Amino acid sequence: MSDETPKPKRRTSVHRPSSDASRFHMSKEAVDRSVGDYFRMSDLECLKHLARARWGSHKVVTCPHCSSSAEHYWSNTERRWKCKGCGKRFSVTSNTVFANRRIPMQTLLAAIHVWVCGSAGQPALELRRILGMKGYNTAFTLISKGREALVRGYNTGLISGVVEMDGAHISGRGASQRRGKPLNYRNLDDEAAQADALLTTSARQKKRREAKAAAIAAGGVVHPEHGNVFPAMRRITMNLRKRGGKKGKGTLTTRVGICMAETPQAAELLARQFVAIPESILATDTGTAFSKLGKEFQVHLQVNHSETLVGPDGQHVNNSESFSARMDRAEKGIYLNIEPKYLNDYAVEVAFREDHNRLAPGEASDRFIHYALGVGLSRHFRGYTHGKHRDYEVLLTGNQYAAPSGPAKGRSPISMANGRPPR
Ligand SMILES: [Zn+2]
Repeated sequence: MSDETPKPKRRTSVHRPSSDASRFHMSKEAVDRSVGDYFRMSDLECLKHLARARWGSHKVVTCPHCSSSAEHYWSNTERRWKCKGCGKRFSVTSNTVFANRRIPMQTLLAAIHVWVCGSAGQPALELRRILGMKGYNTAFTLISKGREALVRGYNTGLISGVVEMDGAHISGRGASQRRGKPLNYRNLDDEAAQADALLTTSARQKKRREAKAAAIAAGGVVHPEHGNVFPAMRRITMNLRKRGGKKGKGTLTTRVGICMAETPQAAELLARQFVAIPESILATDTGTAFSKLGKEFQVHLQVNHSETLVGPDGQHVNNSESFSARMDRAEKGIYLNIEPKYLNDYAVEVAFREDHNRLAPGEASDRFIHYALGVGLSRHFRGYTHGKHRDYEVLLTGNQYAAPSGPAKGRSPISMANGRPPR
């Protein structure tokens, strides 16, 4: 009996230590406001709420025409101010992405709240269903304008300190490869591999050359260094994340950029745009894109991912990896096929979500309003549903032409086959 090994204790569940994030999300402080609170507010209360989020006060406000801050004349009947400086009138949404809105104030605030609440993203269709918006276009343009505002209001300014940098393949991989192929296409690939093994070396090389030429002819992107061809829709989302001072508290600020390939040029352009390089420390993996750039920083911490995830001196890019994972989930689980043309907008949205996920939703939506109402009118989504589409794609290496997509003037941005109501 005694030489028998003791029976292992039966465990009913796997022990998972609770993280700092889960402690916050389960706490009382994680819920400060609900959608219902906005619908209980009067129009005037909503207006004051927006004014406080935009200018920090609903009394001392800033004229969007001449930028003078004062207690401007308030007209209770018009619900607008008249500027003491230039005499022009303005409302709380004048010269913002939400100018000329037609939805009620309460719905606008509730939409922002619901949109900010999503941890990986919030689809327009779902927003429309939750808030009972009349058309899909209303929800779609509202959140697209919000996203555009974050690009100009949030993804801007220098960061310093310990900065992590990494890139990840994001757009157009799974969908474009799988579309039009049978579900068991993997088996077909295996058959192709078996056939490939029977070829002579020269025949195999010829076959690969032809496949490469075909991929380039179909609009594929050739990597400038190793010469591999990527599908036409594939992009790299590069991110920069400033580490917070406290261990386990995540990062403070994120900056993003899109490029065709993770090259030294793209990494340098991103760093020059967003990092105070001489006073910062760079943390990356051992990717070749970062080795030259790292020399300009005070210290370059590199982690060799084939050996370990965290080195002895804090060599890791786990916060950057966390962003890439969240971006991947946003694409695969929420937004599905993000057009490369708008990938930058979506990446900035994910950055905003990642940076504000330790704030209660009310506070996070107030921050969103502050960023979104400070960047002027929408340039890309006014008139979108009437066919006015942006015709370029934002890239670190310089914007490139992208044909306006979607149906022509006056149609829904989604296909009419999907959007048309049954007769
Ligand atoms: Zn003025």
